[in-house]
Amino acid sequence: MQSLRHRDLHSEHEPHVVFQASTIGALLDGAYDGDVTFAELAEHGDLGLGTINGLDGEMIAVDGRFLRADIEGTTSALDVSDRTPFAVVVWFTPTERIEIGGPASQEEVLAAVDDRLPATAVACALRIEGHFDHVKARSVPKQNRPYRPLAEVVADQHVFDLEDVEGTIVGFRFPDYSQGIEVSGYHLHFASADRARGGHVLDFRVRDARVQIDPSADLHLELPSGIDLDAPDLSASTAAALARVEHSD
Ligand code: ZN
Repeated sequence: MQSLRHRDLHSEHEPHVVFQASTIGALLDGAYDGDVTFAELAEHGDLGLGTINGLDGEMIAVDGRFLRADIEGTTSALDVSDRTPFAVVVWFTPTERIEIGGPASQEEVLAAVDDRLPATAVACALRIEGHFDHVKARSVPKQNRPYRPLAEVVADQHVFDLEDVEGTIVGFRFPDYSQGIEVSGYHLHFASADRARGGHVLDFRVRDARVQIDPSADLHLELPSGIDLDAPDLSASTAAALARVEHSD
């Protein structure tokens, strides 16, 4: 009965509610095997990002499709039975739109998003569709047990450059206070228009783009059991490790 109610609750596809499997803090500690399948994740949203068990690449969720980008930046469809140790998805319901009419850097595009966010928005999901002069992205190699901390794994990340490519960036902006639960600031993943290439975004430059923003006034994280939210690691060392892991190149 309980699982039935659980399913009913989510069949409503409640907008502006972010669903997250596990925490980035757990991932930093080397918890690379989760128990949430992509079939389950797909019940909670159609846009998002994350990784795959064993840290086997970067996950991109776009239009309800769940893709895995390998260390070459080549994407393939994930199987519904594959599992994730960390993922964030939302039923993408944009309320704000920005047209970027000419060339712009990542910094300029994200500043425009910041400007457009309602004052009440503490978080947002976003989708950037356009022609990219350049996307600098990365993926990480599959890990074997015993797992090393994420900061060490990311030292082995593979960085690749996609030039002159049509595609979609999906992702989130989370507030600073969510550090340890989330990657604070922007966390973005890319998939090319043919959905053949992608990865975790380190930098980009658009030629022109359409940005859609789904603001969330209430950071509602729904966590699977086994995650202790009373003790999120908000320490400076976690922040420093995350800065290395998520934003360094
Ligand atoms: Zn990422």
